[in-house]
Amino acid sequence: MPPCRSFLDSYNNHDDNQDIEPSSEPSTMTYDLIVIGGGPGGYVAAIRAAQLGKNVALIEKRPTLGGTCLNVGCIPSKALLDSSEYYHQVKGMFARHGIQVGEVKLDLAAMMARKDAVVKGLTAGLAGLMRKNKITVLQGVGKLAGRVGELHRVSVKGTRDEVVEGKAVLLATGSEPTGIPSLPFDHTYIVSSTEALCFDKVPQHLIVIGAGYIGLELGSVWARLGAKVTVLEFLPRILPLSDAEVAEALHRSLVKLGLNFQLETRVTGAAVHAGEVLVQANSKGRDLEFRGDRVLVAVGRRPYTAGLGLAEAGVRFDERSGRVLVNSQFETNVPGIYAIGDLIEGPMLAHKAEEDGVAFAENLAGLKGHVNYDTVPSVIYTWPEVASVGPTEEQVQASGRAYKVGKFPFSASARARCMDETEGLVKIIADAKTDRLIAVHIFGPKASEMIGEAVAVLEFGGSAEDIARICHAHPTLSETMKEAALGVDKRTIHL
Ligand code: NAD
Repeated sequence: MPPCRSFLDSYNNHDDNQDIEPSSEPSTMTYDLIVIGGGPGGYVAAIRAAQLGKNVALIEKRPTLGGTCLNVGCIPSKALLDSSEYYHQVKGMFARHGIQVGEVKLDLAAMMARKDAVVKGLTAGLAGLMRKNKITVLQGVGKLAGRVGELHRVSVKGTRDEVVEGKAVLLATGSEPTGIPSLPFDHTYIVSSTEALCFDKVPQHLIVIGAGYIGLELGSVWARLGAKVTVLEFLPRILPLSDAEVAEALHRSLVKLGLNFQLETRVTGAAVHAGEVLVQANSKGRDLEFRGDRVLVAVGRRPYTAGLGLAEAGVRFDERSGRVLVNSQFETNVPGIYAIGDLIEGPMLAHKAEEDGVAFAENLAGLKGHVNYDTVPSVIYTWPEVASVGPTEEQVQASGRAYKVGKFPFSASARARCMDETEGLVKIIADAKTDRLIAVHIFGPKASEMIGEAVAVLEFGGSAEDIARICHAHPTLSETMKEAALGVDKRTIHL
């Protein structure tokens, strides 16, 4: 039995982790807003709408709130990323700091239990927030079920079946992993990120398909814990959507960690036999075989709309991507039905879904909600981390816009040297004529925390000069941002 509960277990066994209390409301209640999906998009929209005086029901099929992010995504993966990085540091870095430790042992069950406790604490916190904001939480699967006059009906199949009615319905059901048809998930040997967060022992050889966010983060976790990790990527580089220079730097770093990369490799099939998976692939016309004990398929996610009743309700979506089509108010073609987060256009990121949720709720209440998708940061929680906002240098180049670049390496940062974390750089792209900030790409320690400054300056329409003139505390990693900004006009001080 794995040390943590899988997504499927959470459906079948509700007892031990049931945050959502059964509703005591009578059936066929009428609400101002019914939200389907209790992830970061849905629960944030519900809270903001409740703050603005709306009577809100939130329907969630899991026994806990928080969606993929909190239950089987961002949070448990970050808990394991932190734990596995500490383990890796004790084994490798402590001696360099003059700290001698005895035998270092991995207690995977305790590591998994800590991760589960982090998730449990946070989901319980959300249940409390729902109570505080007087949001009715209904546990079950929500489905659009027609209209009565101006009201939309939503059926809820769960701990008990009921139908609720709402003046508005928000679809916030998120996304699910995309599989590969020739490599279907069996959830034991061929798995998605959900199961890769719950392995009960360190795989001997983990084969990861896809060198994107999930593949690199979870590949790092298991490599640090001792697995041999091979990443098979279809394209000629890792992180195809990230800045090439930064992705290349991360690639080199992950090779040092021990990850093996097979680029330009297309997986064609797999067979499981006696606990071993044989993965067949093709690279530049050559047939290849890889043998491992676990295969993580991480080739992207798609909107999760199964069973929502979209077609019956006449809600339009993009046939190819499955994304629900909405206008600037997040409203679908059916008046009163809205959608946000991974279901609609834009990056599939929890913080983007949260912003959508707030903007939607404010628009519904007659305010002017808005999300600037051009300033949504993205982070890859490897170590060092990658954090970016704005277009890649390749995209800026392709747009024909004249630009300048400033860079500063962490090896020249005093604080990074104190930490012994000198790998990586900050790269700032600014308009050649106006100096207006276009993008910032960071590969380095705590990049996820540093990117906030770049987002703020970009949001305020600031320039590289603005960052260069801001006084940054010394010694901090953030001085690297200032130096890179100075570098835009070739006047770095410490290089
Ligand atoms: P991804 O889109 O980040 O990466 C998928 C990778 O798989 C790409 O490099 C692609 O070229 C490759 N690929 C596709 N088909 C392939 C095939 N048949 N064989 C080999 N390689 C193939 O997808 P993901 O890593 O699965 O992540 C899914 C989503 O979850 C992303 O949209 C991401 O935004 C989100 N996510 C974000 C974070 C974060 O913010 N840190 C972490 C995890 C997931």
